[in-house]
Amino acid sequence: MTTVEPRIHVLSIPTPFPVGPVNVYLLEGEPLTLVDAGPLTDEALEALARGVRDLGHSLADIEQLVITHAHHDHFGLARQVVEQSGATLLSFHQNRPPLEDFETWWAQRVAFVAEFVATEGAPGEALADIEEMRGFQIYASSVPEITPLEDNDEVQMGGANWRAIHTPGHALGHLCFHHPESQLLLSGDHLLRDITSNPVVETPRVGMRRRPRSLIDYKRSLRRIRELEVSKVFPGHGEPVYDHRALVDEILTHHRERGRLIWGLLKAKDRTVYELGLALFGRDLRGVELFLVMSEIIGHLDVLEVERKARRVERDGQATWTAVN
Ligand SMILES: [Zn+2]
Repeated sequence: MTTVEPRIHVLSIPTPFPVGPVNVYLLEGEPLTLVDAGPLTDEALEALARGVRDLGHSLADIEQLVITHAHHDHFGLARQVVEQSGATLLSFHQNRPPLEDFETWWAQRVAFVAEFVATEGAPGEALADIEEMRGFQIYASSVPEITPLEDNDEVQMGGANWRAIHTPGHALGHLCFHHPESQLLLSGDHLLRDITSNPVVETPRVGMRRRPRSLIDYKRSLRRIRELEVSKVFPGHGEPVYDHRALVDEILTHHRERGRLIWGLLKAKDRTVYELGLALFGRDLRGVELFLVMSEIIGHLDVLEVERKARRVERDGQATWTAVN
């Protein structure tokens, strides 16, 4: 048996977000596959079409589009790609609500985030800023239907058999794709070299009351990826990663230190998540940045709560966190 070495090309697609450009991957071979698509903007669509054309194809030739996770910068153009090519669209089954009914899902998500930051101590002025997230609706649109993937599914992309690996944490329905024979990993935003992947607070799953504990999920997913034999990682942003185990260890150490710092702040006095943010960053935080910081802190508090080192007390819709010794 000969090993098929996948032919992978990276296309750098501009985004209107602070994260900068997103990596879209074109995998040549049967079926001709795009992994992620970029945000829904004219500039991104033009860059995507040009990038595909420079490689000797056209958007109309794309046979399959695979979405790693349901964030605007990755799936925003999915509908345009599918409409122009008739490509099959694959993503994790949990991404059905955001992908197939994006507008409803996004409105619910912003409402959830507004309630989360209010309950966890953000003042009224900061709350108004969360409303700016509502406007992000323009950077994506719903797709007609996805072909749902499960954890460990085999997916044929670019002439090779890849394994889908459910890696929740940065996003609930996040998938990485591993090709064991060539030790390649398409990591989406699960493993990034230059940016800390945020364990974004998630809306509760359908039929569940509690939100997922994103940082706990994320750390578990990192350990799972660490076990894989990987010689090169193709991330959703930035340059490739060659030593994924060292990077995973570095991220886990960073989170451990952060958790310890937050525990120390709580031991000094009870605080809300917002107050912890002020103490950690030493300045007022606003808008999306506020949400991301509060996401990270609640992630650490989830860990401390599970370890019985911290406790959440909610009174009249206001939560305070307290250290348990
Ligand atoms: Zn991203």
